[in-house]
Amino acid sequence: MRVLVPIKRVVDPYVKVRVRADGQGMDLQNVKMTINPFDEIAIEEAIRWKEAGLITEVIVVSIGMSQVQESLRAALALGADAAIHVTTDKIIEPLAVAKTLCAIAKQQQPDIIIMGKQAIDDDCNQTGQMLAALLNWPQATFASKITFQEDKKSVIAIREVDGGLETLEVALPLVITTDLRLNEPRYASLPNIMQAKRKTITSIELTSLDIDTTPHLKVLSVTPPQPRKPGKMVKDVAELMHYLREIEKVI
Ligand code: AMP
Repeated sequence: MRVLVPIKRVVDPYVKVRVRADGQGMDLQNVKMTINPFDEIAIEEAIRWKEAGLITEVIVVSIGMSQVQESLRAALALGADAAIHVTTDKIIEPLAVAKTLCAIAKQQQPDIIIMGKQAIDDDCNQTGQMLAALLNWPQATFASKITFQEDKKSVIAIREVDGGLETLEVALPLVITTDLRLNEPRYASLPNIMQAKRKTITSIELTSLDIDTTPHLKVLSVTPPQPRKPGKMVKDVAELMHYLREIEKVI
């Protein structure tokens, strides 16, 4: 049984990004990049399934410029078996990403696609859902626990929904998107990092897949959040109440 894990290279979540001077996007020059944290959770889950003997192969795929190979290499060091780089210099929107992943899924014939619920750079939260629709597969989004049924023909997925948890039984093949509580990703070990250097990354040109990647959205502007007012130290509750009532007038 094969599992496909799409991964996106994004700005490291601990980096403070700035809006570009032209106000059309974020300044990504010389910024530390990493695998999208929700995709790291997806890789971890797939590797755990392999270690438990539930699946046989973990294939990672990423669409983007040559630098995404660093992320693919990092995923191989975590334990993925094979990597596919779909090469493009263009920024592609979630629908085009979903179409591309659909084409790769048709080539690779995975039984499960597990991916992040959202990329932390664009916060779109669209690709998994659109991919499931394009493949006509069921989906278990925002998964916080996945358990295989005995016959491995379906999984029990616990989903994080507003106000609680929803438990679903979903038949394979399916698309799963990961939520934060699914697992805690491991760090790559030194032997695995060395081994990953010898694994091959297969490159496919996006243009060779014959997919319409025309953008449908135009970013009009990006504005940074309003700076917060500095805090004020008060000496006791009486002064705090006076401040809130008389000066800020919030109570
Ligand atoms: P989004 O819908 O943009 O929030 O992204 C959701 C998920 O789609 C991500 O967590 C990735 O698993 C996948 N994804 C998005 N962009 C790419 C990309 N360029 N290459 C591979 N996977 C991607």
